[in-house]
Amino acid sequence: MTMAENYRLVMDVNKALRKALPIRLGINKRNELTRLLYEICISRNISPEKVLAEMPFSASGDEKGGIFQRVKRDLVKTRYPELQKKDRVRLMPLKIDGESNESAVWRGELEPRRIIVEKRSAGLEWTRGFLKMFPGAEVLETDNIHRASKELRLRDRIDGYALRRETIFIVSGKASFIKKCPCTKGAVRCGYWVLNLGFGCPFDCSYCYLQTYSNIPGLVFAANIEEYCGHIRKFDASQARQVRIGTGEFTDSLALDKYTGYSSKLISVFRETKNLILELKTKTADIDNVLKERAHPGVVISWSINTPGIVEKYEKGTAGVYRRIEAAALAASRGYKVGFHFDPVVWYEGWEKEYQDIVRRLFSHDKVRENTVWISLGTLRYTPGLKQAAEQRFSDNRIFYEGGFFLDFDGKFRYPEKLRKEMYDKLLRYIKEAGVSCWTYLCMEPGGVSSGLEGLEKPAWPAS
Ligand code: SF4
Repeated sequence: MTMAENYRLVMDVNKALRKALPIRLGINKRNELTRLLYEICISRNISPEKVLAEMPFSASGDEKGGIFQRVKRDLVKTRYPELQKKDRVRLMPLKIDGESNESAVWRGELEPRRIIVEKRSAGLEWTRGFLKMFPGAEVLETDNIHRASKELRLRDRIDGYALRRETIFIVSGKASFIKKCPCTKGAVRCGYWVLNLGFGCPFDCSYCYLQTYSNIPGLVFAANIEEYCGHIRKFDASQARQVRIGTGEFTDSLALDKYTGYSSKLISVFRETKNLILELKTKTADIDNVLKERAHPGVVISWSINTPGIVEKYEKGTAGVYRRIEAAALAASRGYKVGFHFDPVVWYEGWEKEYQDIVRRLFSHDKVRENTVWISLGTLRYTPGLKQAAEQRFSDNRIFYEGGFFLDFDGKFRYPEKLRKEMYDKLLRYIKEAGVSCWTYLCMEPGGVSSGLEGLEKPAWPAS
């Protein structure tokens, strides 16, 4: 469906509700019914009239709230057939207004209109090299990037996010060069650490939390890479055990590497460290800079893996999954250790076969199988507001409507625990059948989910 068709469906849903409910509803009640009926229509590919015609809500009942409660109850049952008493749903208003904030799909080339340079980064060698690549961009200096970003006067956060590739901010990162992965409250941590060299990703994944998290309407790069390298060396000296560190918390580690050159610097530094393992996590297949560097056991290149249909529809601008697999095979054949993140695993009709096929295909490469050091698994989850942002930015949002999502232990929405366990169980079996044996863990899950699953070892990195 297109954005315009989605908007028409919202109108049709409202019209059908007005016709079926001969009472005036307040805005909140109307929003709840509209949300439910809209999601049912899309997931079942059915018109609003047909859904309402199938509803038994006209039958007698004396529930509190009268007809509204009866309609809501029946729509909830239809949208969430697996709903249990303990499950909590949240029916947030649809914000589909007929306007499209969809970004143009990333084609791999950065073409910024403006580059805003923090004054203290202006004289750095990295900044000078970066600016040379974009002679046509307007360059502005500022001593406060937050003030500078306000001056861009973008309509709202979603608008700023959609236009983020037009503006680059060059800063000198200073706080917490290396910190523990914040994970999520109540989950079993895997012992990961993060190193953030910037903020913002050029890809457009529908489920990406950055859409609602970012308050800078651009891509942010750290120019003080040499200072970072110094901190990495110091951090290494302070550690007694192996520590895994990744650069992919707020961006894709390699998507913009041909402009930033970060990977070469980091690989050289981590090669010299005693206790640190660098993970460069990506959805790209362009690993030229990495391949120019000599492989080292302290450097792991990892890919997010999903089924071809999920990648094509919901990971816009990224490399297709078969290209990622080819890149992984190339990296492994050059001696690099590799890792894989099946995250987010999405439930849809026929998901099992497609995930099994992709696991088989990935591990059919001998070198990939031999060089895989870790695999993480995580099912689709999202924060309140994320689904609404995706609805404003993408025309196809079926992934959010096909499964039931309930408010979970950390305030995020997830599939029910029973379903997640089943999904992990099957994936672990596919991985085992593919002949891979490596450390495998769940990402952002509480202990109860992993208990009883075969194929998971202790949650933390074995060396820690
Ligand atoms: S499980 Fe995932 S989110 Fe949690 S610490 Fe590890 S990498 Fe971070």
